[in-house]
Amino acid sequence: MTDAGDRSPLSAAPHASRLRAVQQRLDNAALVLAAAPEVRIGADTELRYVVDSELYYLTGYTEPDAVLVVTATAITLFVRPRDEKSELWSGVRGGVEAAQRRYHADAAFPVVELTQQLPLLLGDVDTIHARLRGGRADVDAALEDVLAAGRRNRPRTGRAPFRIADPGVLLDELRLRKDESEIARIRRAAEISIATFREAASLIRTGIGEWQIEAALQSGFRSRRASGEAFPSIVGSGVNGTVLHYVTNNDELREGDFVLIDAGARYEMYCADITRTYAVGRVSPERMALHDIVRSAHAAAVAMSRAGSTIDAIDAAAKRVLVQGMIDLDLVDGPLDNALAGDAYKRYYPHRTSHWLGLDVHDVGVYVADCSARPLEVGMVFTIEPGLYIPADDERARPALRGTGIRLEDDVLITAHGADVLTAALPLDADPTVALSW
Ligand code: CA
Repeated sequence: MTDAGDRSPLSAAPHASRLRAVQQRLDNAALVLAAAPEVRIGADTELRYVVDSELYYLTGYTEPDAVLVVTATAITLFVRPRDEKSELWSGVRGGVEAAQRRYHADAAFPVVELTQQLPLLLGDVDTIHARLRGGRADVDAALEDVLAAGRRNRPRTGRAPFRIADPGVLLDELRLRKDESEIARIRRAAEISIATFREAASLIRTGIGEWQIEAALQSGFRSRRASGEAFPSIVGSGVNGTVLHYVTNNDELREGDFVLIDAGARYEMYCADITRTYAVGRVSPERMALHDIVRSAHAAAVAMSRAGSTIDAIDAAAKRVLVQGMIDLDLVDGPLDNALAGDAYKRYYPHRTSHWLGLDVHDVGVYVADCSARPLEVGMVFTIEPGLYIPADDERARPALRGTGIRLEDDVLITAHGADVLTAALPLDADPTVALSW
């Protein structure tokens, strides 16, 4: 295989400058981020560990149990110490010394010292940006102690923490504008996903199982050195394509249906998110018209994607095409502006056209600012994913259209020159053989 997986490693992420950007926003506040807890199933089986996105964004640290404390003047890491016996079972740990050396920390401690050190680090701040009840009882207890001490000390010292705030206030805006190292990782995730979708498309035929396509997706991502799926893959044939988050993937593909595949690789924590809807054998022209409408809506949405435009404008452009298509198929009553103002179309298009994409597949960041849609900026990455879903029991739709779900989704980066559709190399055609010949 000569595609994405074989290339040299990507350049290091600029964690130091991200930490500095956070420190500049802190003033009388501090940030405390705890690594997500490990997930166990059964008695003692640990699932593959997935680090917390925010902690990873600022440090690149990937071991469990870590806690990052950032104040305006110091960066402190608490980590699992070296432990010969545990390392024999679960692999080598970097330990305290490596945490300080490799991750831009001014100091590092074993995580068991959190309770002791936290009051010293946070005694002077007003606000602690932290997420309580994230599954880390040790961190919750240490923060409660700090707040209780603050209540005791404030009358005499005049300074002590008295409120917990959302870390997203500090981090979401930074994460929304992707830097070069992030864009490189999203691009790689997109390349891996495209190559894998081609393999999945090659399998499509009457009688094959949705689960077999799911298995091909998992194999394709992993064999190209993605960590795996960015989210559970959706392989919905026939009526299953109308279930927005269908993940059972247990039916066989039937002649004349569509199969909707919504999947993406996660590469170095960054996600891709692609949907294609392919014909199984010969699909009737009536059904194919639905695919054509969604494809036109996709084109209209992409055409609106540039700096200064908005997610709302992209959504509106897609909806105008989708709803006109619904009117043409007599699914809703016209004229267009009346239909858009009403709710009837939402039966067939219940979701919005875009979400942010990055470390999280539904990435962080607000879509509105000052009560109106925020302008898109260079470096923002989002999906465009119009769809049409005709429920199986829909009485208004012609029988030939019922039980059909179509969605076409690409990942878009706003650039100085307009928009870069990162997943454009995968054809949108319903015919799966077009994906192969590209
Ligand atoms: Ca998706």
